[in-house]
Amino acid sequence: MAHFTCEVVYRGIFQKNLASRICRGIVLSARKAGRWGIAFGRYGDSPQRNGIPAKDFAIVADTQEELEQNMARYEPKEVDVTICVDDTLSKGVESWAWYGLQPINRLTLPGGTLLMTSLQTVDALLKDIHRKDTAYDLAIIPAKASFSGLWVYKEDHTEARILGALAKIQPAFLSLDAVCQAIREAEWGSDLKVESAKKAHERLKSRTIQITEGNAETPYSFEMPKWWEMREGVSIPAIPIGKPMEGGKGYVPERNPYFKKFTTRTMRPVIDFDKCVKCTLCWIQCPDSCFDVTPDGLYDANMEACCGCGVCEAVCPAKECVVMVSEASFEDNASQWEMWRRDKDAYKAWMTQKIHEKTHVVRSHGFRFRGQYEQEVAREIDTGGIEITAGIPGENADSKSL
Ligand code: SF4
Ligand code: SF4
Repeated sequence: MAHFTCEVVYRGIFQKNLASRICRGIVLSARKAGRWGIAFGRYGDSPQRNGIPAKDFAIVADTQEELEQNMARYEPKEVDVTICVDDTLSKGVESWAWYGLQPINRLTLPGGTLLMTSLQTVDALLKDIHRKDTAYDLAIIPAKASFSGLWVYKEDHTEARILGALAKIQPAFLSLDAVCQAIREAEWGSDLKVESAKKAHERLKSRTIQITEGNAETPYSFEMPKWWEMREGVSIPAIPIGKPMEGGKGYVPERNPYFKKFTTRTMRPVIDFDKCVKCTLCWIQCPDSCFDVTPDGLYDANMEACCGCGVCEAVCPAKECVVMVSEASFEDNASQWEMWRRDKDAYKAWMTQKIHEKTHVVRSHGFRFRGQYEQEVAREIDTGGIEITAGIPGENADSKSL
């Protein structure tokens, strides 16, 4: 008797449909391969919020009894394959379902595989992926993070490519033939998608990651309150008033001291303080009270509180004053305003590099021009690689008047 288990780590809402399609595809492919399969979401991840990491699971077993035995667990404690569909999650995962930061490879079994969609190299990803005390394989499908909304689905073949890759990683459970049959016969019914699955299978590259490789940082954690420290009844304290900054010249709003949201971000705002007209809109509209009011009346987004929603970029009236940039481009959560105050020329060089290099701005929360998916899929099939097309900035830059 044998089984294999996988988790799909995804961005809440933006990739909810993608994750469920991947899991559904695994189960259907398992049936085509004469095996049993089941998929389920994590209870603690519901309801979801834009970008907050969440998980779905799929289990494939030789027999129904084996499957039922694995289903008896609330959620798998270890998996053969971790599928990660946004490479900024390589910094770690902080979900609503647990507390503190969980390395992306935490549940991956010794010798298991972390399968990621990414345009980054293995070495670049390993700057963020935490070290593990056993070796595992890192497999990469060259692809941009596929985002859409709650009610829509982005038809860019990411799910077909992941299924094709999975057939290479777990051939004993999911043959490529079974995956292709499932894709052809399921609602997708597309030969083009079958082709995408085959290409991903053929081209998948993986490398064994040793215990000495990866980010050596200890993931953020905190002490949970004991049951006797909890207050009676259901009462949620209001957010306290914030603190003055530099003798009352500035202001720092109070924030959740435990839930550090930096892993919920797939992009972060980069601010050009010289273009700011101090209109206060970002400060008022930010849903997470991220902005500190600085002593000189500017607005500095706190990177421990920012969830990367992009509202500040959307509301800012000044062109290229707030620009959302891929989270993969940053190595820390330091204050941008402090950097700007310290050395304006150095800040300008840093900021210009971040917002004008295409690799930094290529992702978006799902907005696309009509026909863009078809163009990208065709490029992938024809040339074997996705060209980096323009993403943000530009989604609403034309409507800015200042
Ligand atoms: S992206 Fe902007 S609006 Fe959204 S949480 Fe971060 S600072 Fe606030
Ligand atoms: S919305 Fe833009 S211009 Fe207005 S305060 Fe914020 S950063 Fe400055």
